[in-house]
Amino acid sequence: MNRFLDYLSSIFNLLFPESCISCNKLGDLFCPLCQESIKFSLNNKNILLKREKNAFNDTSIKIYYSTDYQKIKKILHSIKFDHKKEMIQFWSKSKGLKNAIDSLTKSISGPILTTIVPSHKNRLEKRGYNIVLDIYSEHIIDLQKNNKYINFNPNFFTRIKDTKPLFVLDKKNRYIQLNNAFSITAKNKNSKNKNMTLIIFDDICTTGQTLIELKKMTKNLNFKQVIAFSLAYQSL
Ligand SMILES: [Zn+2]
Repeated sequence: MNRFLDYLSSIFNLLFPESCISCNKLGDLFCPLCQESIKFSLNNKNILLKREKNAFNDTSIKIYYSTDYQKIKKILHSIKFDHKKEMIQFWSKSKGLKNAIDSLTKSISGPILTTIVPSHKNRLEKRGYNIVLDIYSEHIIDLQKNNKYINFNPNFFTRIKDTKPLFVLDKKNRYIQLNNAFSITAKNKNSKNKNMTLIIFDDICTTGQTLIELKKMTKNLNFKQVIAFSLAYQSL
């Protein structure tokens, strides 16, 4: 039976060959040349919430990012909107991404708690997978194995409001959408965070408002610092 299915799928591939999402060349969904053209490094940017006149510490966040947004736009689009879940492997198995995360965590002294920007359960149910979790979890679990001071709690934050996709909104409406969108459970609030750095992982950072909103929620939780890591940074 399996052989028969293999046979059918090879006929299907002959009739409808895959083409590269980036350069359209027939053969692979994401061809080796396009894969190689994506370079990883560790960069950072300080993002301020411009809406507020006095930018105190909790209205800005330092964001680390690993690659150029224009280069990865099509891959992300294929995962998010064309349901090409297999494309997540480009990152979950990426040595370049792993190295960028490694050098960030190595530059931090003291214990580190890692988490992700949460998705609402309706969105996860609809899509069937959690992109941010699937991109990073293998890398973070790997890090944990080698460093007992690194912890991973993907459910540190909860998204309690099923917000519209932010990319369809302008800055002002993003802010309204994000208002009271998240929560932290009592258990997570009571965890001992003294001297601890919180790293929030995300896929793409644009205005940074989601991350700043999350950082604000940690205000009284005694973290030494709250920073973010995203694949890329895209300015609007
Ligand atoms: Zn290509």
